[in-house]
Parts: sequence; structure tokens; C-alpha cells
Amino acid sequence: MERRGAHQIAADVASGSISAAAVIDEALSSARGIGRSLNAVLETFDDHAMERARALDAARERGETPGPLAGVPVLVKDNICTSVGRTTCASRMLEHYTSPFDATAVARLEAAGAIVIGKSNLDEFAMGGSGEHSAFGPTKNPWDLSRVPGGSSSGSAAAVAAGIVPMALGSDTGGSVRQPAAFCGVVGLKPTYGLVSRLGLVAFASSLDQIGPITRTVRDAALALRVIAGHDPGDATSSRRHHPDPLEGLDHRVHHLTVGVPRQARGEANRPEAASAFDDALRTFAGLGARIVDLDLPSLDAAIAAYYIVSSAEASSNLARFDGLRYGRRAASRPGESVESLVSRSRTEGLGPEVQRRIMLGTHVLSAGYADAYYANALRVRRLLKNEFDAAFASGCHVIATPTTPGAAFRIGAHDRDPLAMYLEDLYTVPANLAGLPAISLPCGVSTAQGSALPLGLQLIAPAFHDAELLRAARMFESASPHDVLRPPVVPAA
Ligand code: GLN
Repeated sequence: MERRGAHQIAADVASGSISAAAVIDEALSSARGIGRSLNAVLETFDDHAMERARALDAARERGETPGPLAGVPVLVKDNICTSVGRTTCASRMLEHYTSPFDATAVARLEAAGAIVIGKSNLDEFAMGGSGEHSAFGPTKNPWDLSRVPGGSSSGSAAAVAAGIVPMALGSDTGGSVRQPAAFCGVVGLKPTYGLVSRLGLVAFASSLDQIGPITRTVRDAALALRVIAGHDPGDATSSRRHHPDPLEGLDHRVHHLTVGVPRQARGEANRPEAASAFDDALRTFAGLGARIVDLDLPSLDAAIAAYYIVSSAEASSNLARFDGLRYGRRAASRPGESVESLVSRSRTEGLGPEVQRRIMLGTHVLSAGYADAYYANALRVRRLLKNEFDAAFASGCHVIATPTTPGAAFRIGAHDRDPLAMYLEDLYTVPANLAGLPAISLPCGVSTAQGSALPLGLQLIAPAFHDAELLRAARMFESASPHDVLRPPVVPAA
């Protein structure tokens, strides 16, 4: 299959050299085939998508100018609301939920001509880093079917890597766009907090959540961001700040680029494959004339602890609405049963073990007698971390570089008995969420240390609302790196 980027598809559809209907037909059939083999796709919107594609072709024939994403097939993580199909959050609790509206990010993509072909698999309610916590079964990594694709935007990353779609939406609370992008060898962008509307994103931890695109190239990430970014009166935390067009000047190099490297990024947490890919990445930057400077960000050491306290606290509050009475699936009621018991059984049956663990952890860290020790201290760490990042940027760093993950994709089941080990995998991604900063993961190597070829990611972090500059630095790296377009081995269709 020829793999066109979103840019190319939109240009070809606009010029009439290919029809949107042909593009969408092909994407739907690979979503049903390879998408199913990987368990990356939960639902396809066949009729809706084909209808929109034909309407787009007809409009073009009438002489209307198609949008910047004309005919681009897109998959949407299933915790982002679509008015077509279901929005399950990969949870039994919302198995039959249909949203009456489109999330703002989805509406903006479609207004630009993109066509949502279906919904992608995830860790239940976006809680996880492997894709194994979906109530509908784990997603597989297209590079090695015995390994996880990362999470929680597992289906979105796996589908882009497998060539089903050139663009997918994910959500990133502590790394869920960047980490699966790294494990699957694609590009994942978490925008500045407040740049992309959260309206229609089912809340996990509202002060950390951000929708972001997963694509194969930096240019397509910039294209997606340009379309979905911007103020939305429907989201109280959506920013009104002016933000530059990320496509403008994308190919212009950042002058005198300075790349900061925190001490921890070269630390013992890295497995050998991640350490050597990261060193190579820094050499690539040095070869581009960038200055590499060492940074001391002491609060990074406490970031994981702070993140799991803050995110679980917010999750326990956000998910309280799913009680089977106000929202969500209700357990079959028993005669004479108390409301309390019905709620308890509905939540026990409807929510998976990882979600229950987060709710219990969150309730604990907020409870009387513990809130000061845990929650209040976590907020202090968050503030310190933000200050340390600000100081690093004020000292002249344009971007801060780390590996995206301390190693390549692990085997399905590797962390089954040890949730903490899974949490520790997030050490490089959670700081950007705690500080509200934009961050991107780019392919930076392929390791064969574990038998099969597995991609690795480089993470770049920039100051808040410097998303366009972040993308320029990322584009510089991509253009100088031999890993710009990685392709996993061909996955047989189901
Ligand atoms: N892996 C992290 C967690 O489990 C991140 C999740 C996310 O970004 N949605 O919380």
C-alpha cells in the first residue's frame, strides 16, 4: 500500500487527482482488516464516512474549495466524543454510550475536510501506558505482535504506524500521546495546556488532559494542530492567547538552537537501547549546530509521585459521576436493594481493575488526615517543577530533550503483577503535563536488542505556547535523521 501523508492526500483530493471516496474506501478496508488484527480499531463509521467522502468529491466538482484536510481519513481515540457511533472510553461502564455532540477538536477536523472513519482502542478511561487495560482487549504493536503499542492512545498510534490512517487523535494526561507514538515509531504531539479545547474529551484529570495528534511526520502534526488549536468558549480553560500558525516557517531552522538535557535523561533509568538512541539523537542535534547544555531540574525526581497523586485525585472526582444512576451502565437491580449497594455493584461491574485502583488511590490522597501529606505536597512539587522549567527556558534553552521512554516497547503482560513498574515507565512524559508545557515525541532509532526491531522516541519540550517553535525544532531533527519515516513489518489482515 502506498502511504501518503495527510498533506499529500489533501493536495491530491483538492486537485482531483484522487477522489476522497477512493481514499476513504481504502482506509476503511484496512481499518477493518489490519485494524482488527491489531485490535486497534473499536468501531468504523462506514456509511457516514463514505457519504461524507462522496459529498466532498461532489462539492469539489462543483468548484468549491476543499479544506486543508480534504479527504484525510482520521481515527479518534474512543474517549473523545463523536456524534456518530459510540464513545465507550474502552469501558464496560460506557459500552453503549452515544454522544449527542462532537468534541470541538473533532468538529474542527471535519470542518477542515477530514473524515472520521472510526474510533480507536485505549486503556480504559485513558488510564494506563500499554493498551492492556481496555475492556475490549489489548491493542498490539504492529512492529511485534507480542508487544504493547504503549498507551493509553494505543489504537491511534498502532493505526498510524500500520498505515491505516495518516492522522489520529489521542489524549495525553501524562504521556498517552507521546509514549505510544514512541513505541510505534510515529510522531505524537501534546500541545500546551489550554491550546486545544477539551470540550468533548471525557475527563481523566482535568488540569493535565490535552488532546493531541498522532501522525507519521512533523508536518502532519503541525497541520493537525493548526486545525484543532484555538479558543473555544465551551472550555473554560481554553486559552485566548494568540498562537502562531505552526505551518508557517516550519522548515526554517531555529537560530542558534540550544537544547537542554536534564541530568536524569542520561540516568540509570534508561535501558541500553534508549540510552544509545538518545546519545545518537543529541549527536544529530550537535551536527545541526545546536548547543547542548546540561540542566539541573531536581524536582524531576518527584514528578512520577506527584503525577500519580494529582491525576488519581482528579480522576476519583471526575469518575464519581459514573454511578449507574446519573451516568453509565447500571447493574441489574435486586429487590429491596439500597441505592448505595446498587451504585457499588454498578461501579464494581462497570469499571476495570486499573480504574478502580486509581479511584481508590485518589480518594485516599484526598481524604481527611492525608490530603496535606499527599495532595498538597504533590501540588508543591508541581509548582517547583514549573519554576525549574521556567528557569531553564529563561537561561536560553529553546527546547529540553529527553528520551520519550526509558526503553522500547515491552511484552504484553510484562507488568501484569506490578502496576508500579508500569507507572515508572512514565518518568519522562509526566513532567510536561504537570507544568502545562508542549512536548513532542519523534522517532529516533530502531533497536534490535530484544530480537525484533523496535522503535525508540526522542522527546522535546518547549515553553508554554511555543508549540510552533517546538515543531520547528522537531522538523530540524526529523530532516537530519534517518529515522524520519519508519515502517513496521507488514501486518497480516484478520
Ligand atoms: N500512563 C499514564 C497513566 O497511566 C498516562 C495516561 C495518560 O496520559 N492518559 O496515567
